[in-house]
Amino acid sequence: MIVCTNREDILRIVEEAKAVSKSIGFVPTMGALHQGHISLVEKSLKQNNITIVSIFINPKQFNQSEDFEKYPRTLNKDIEILKKSGCSIVFVPSYEQVYQDSSSIEVNLDGLDTVLEGKFRKGHFQGVVDVVYRLFKIVSPNRAYFGKKDYQQLLIIKKMIDYFDFNIEIVPCEIIREPDGLALSSRNTRLSSTERDNTKVISEALFEAKKIYRNNQVNIVKNFVQNKIEQNNFLSCEYVEICDPDTLKPCSSKQKALNKILLTAVYCGKVRLIDNILLDSE
Ligand code: AMP
Repeated sequence: MIVCTNREDILRIVEEAKAVSKSIGFVPTMGALHQGHISLVEKSLKQNNITIVSIFINPKQFNQSEDFEKYPRTLNKDIEILKKSGCSIVFVPSYEQVYQDSSSIEVNLDGLDTVLEGKFRKGHFQGVVDVVYRLFKIVSPNRAYFGKKDYQQLLIIKKMIDYFDFNIEIVPCEIIREPDGLALSSRNTRLSSTERDNTKVISEALFEAKKIYRNNQVNIVKNFVQNKIEQNNFLSCEYVEICDPDTLKPCSSKQKALNKILLTAVYCGKVRLIDNILLDSE
């Protein structure tokens, strides 16, 4: 496995690979890797000749400096995990390597960026677009892998691809969970063991919503989830929303919850966790 810190090295590797028609799969991450990330890497390994994983904690997408400062940094361990996974190339750029040009990338996101995470984390998605656009320009992948855990991010990246007409297939990947249901997240390592025990209530509420949504309206399902989470003293919801799964426009109270997506952001102490579940017809 090759570890590159220089964008010129990646540009050269990609040019050589493309010259012999090798396909490139790309998995952008912020490190502190867990099985959620590795599931993306494994999918890319199956579908491409070369898999490039980037590890870059992008300061522009953090709306709170404390969250950025406390974000777990485990580079040596990450490199070991990636070696074992069979990944070909890891790109670990500095800020200067990514942001050679400081301009911000303008994309019409059709309101996808103003709801949910966009409403509560001002500037977050502009930061995501700024970094993913630049990484795509360096890596020029055939396919790029994104987790449904960050569902809104996934839709925004798809929108950006359409907007710039990039020839990149975006591959959505299922949410990987702990045995008790908690969605894997790098931020989980910041939870105390008591907090960690209590966070299982988030996914429990989502799975129970999945049992009741067929016969219920949006407001009933939303209130059920919010109450179930907030009955736990460790947890407080920033939002629980049921939205159209394509546009993320929030549904009105009286609409049926069927074929919508339920998304939530929950604080456990100072740690902010997100999760979602599709209320589809399955
Ligand atoms: P991050 O390092 O948090 O920026 O995440 C990098 C990629 O891994 C994103 O596409 C995330 O959606 C994805 N990811 C993070 N956690 C999970 C998970 N539990 N299951 C599936 N994908 C995930």
